[in-house]
Amino acid sequence: MQGAATSAGAVAVAIAVRRLTRARAGDAVLAGVCGLLAILLYPWVSDLAGATGTSLLFGVAVGLLLPPERLARSLGGSLLAAIGLLGLRAWLGEGALELASGTLVLVAAGELGTGEATGERAARVGLAVLLLPLMLLSFGWVGANSAQASWFGALVSDGPRDQPYVALTFDDGPNGDDTLRLAAILAAHDARGTFFVVGRTVEEQPEVVRTLIEDGDLVGNHSYEHTRWGYLDPRYPELDRTEAAIERVTGRCPTYYRPPHGAHTPFISRLLRDRGMHMVTWEVQANDWKETDAARLARSILDQVHPGAIVLLHDGIDGLPGADRSVLIDALPLILDGLRERGLQPVTLDRLLGGPGYLDHC
Ligand SMILES: [Zn+2]
Repeated sequence: MQGAATSAGAVAVAIAVRRLTRARAGDAVLAGVCGLLAILLYPWVSDLAGATGTSLLFGVAVGLLLPPERLARSLGGSLLAAIGLLGLRAWLGEGALELASGTLVLVAAGELGTGEATGERAARVGLAVLLLPLMLLSFGWVGANSAQASWFGALVSDGPRDQPYVALTFDDGPNGDDTLRLAAILAAHDARGTFFVVGRTVEEQPEVVRTLIEDGDLVGNHSYEHTRWGYLDPRYPELDRTEAAIERVTGRCPTYYRPPHGAHTPFISRLLRDRGMHMVTWEVQANDWKETDAARLARSILDQVHPGAIVLLHDGIDGLPGADRSVLIDALPLILDGLRERGLQPVTLDRLLGGPGYLDHC
C-alpha cells in the first residue's frame, strides 16, 4: 500500500510538472488515469497476461507525458516503458512498479531540461534539480519499506518452490496465552511455526518463549521496541539488545531477523551480515492484525499460498501486552487444514530455507 501511495505520488508529480511546462491538459489527465489504473491493478495481477496488460497501461502513461508533437517518440517510449516494467517485475517482483514510477519522474525531469527558449529552459532545469532529490527519496522510501524490494540489502521473502513446504511465521509476541494457544494448535496439526519475538516482551514473558522452543517452534528476532522509526538509527542497537534478551531467557541466539513493518536500511543489512544473520520478510499476508473474520482470513491466506511461501501472521500486536488474537486462533485450524488439502507441510524457517535457526554464539 505504501508502494502504491509512492507510485501515485510519483505519477502525480510527473503530471504536475508536465502541466507546468507544455503538456496538453488532456494528455496529462489521460496519463494520470492510465498511471493510476496501472498502479491499482498491478498488485492484483498474478499471470503474465495481466502483467503485460498493466505494463502497457503504464507505458501509455509514460508515452502521454513525452513531447506531444513527436508521435513516434511517444509510441517508442510507451513500448520501452512497458517492456522495461515487465523485465523489472520478473527481477524484483512487487518493487518493480515503484521503481518504474521513480523512473517516470526522471523522464519528466529530463523533459524539463529540453526547452527551446532560454528563460524557460533555466526554469525547467531548476525544476529538474528539485525533482531529483524527490525521486531519490521515493526510491529510498520504497527500498526501506517494501518487504520484497532488496536493493537495500539481501532479504529472503520466499523459500524453494520445488518442495511441498511453507513457513508460517508469527510476529509481535510473545503474547501470553494467545501465543501458547497458537503453538498448541500447530502441534496438534503436526506443524511447527516461527515466532519473531519483540525483545522487550521477551523479558516480560520469558516462560512463553521457553515453551515455544521446548515445543520445537523456532524463535526469531523482531527488534527490541517495535517502534515505527527505530530502523532509521544507523547503529541499530535493538538488534543486539534483542539477541541478548533471547539468549538470557533461552540460551539461543536467533539467526533470522524480521524488521518491524518490513522497514530496513543498508546499515541493518550490514549488521546482519557481520553477525551471520539473515533478514526474512514474507510474500503471503492477509492483514491478519486487523481482520475480524476468521474464515475470510483463512481463505485469503490459502488463496495466495504456494510451495515455499513464507506467510506473515501475528500472535501479538506491536509487542503490546494482552492483544486479542482470537480471530487468528479461530483461523489457524482452517489454514492448517487447507494447507494439508493442498499437500503443503508447514515447517520452521530453518527447515524451509535449509540453514541453522540459531547462531553458535551471539
Ligand atoms: Zn511486527
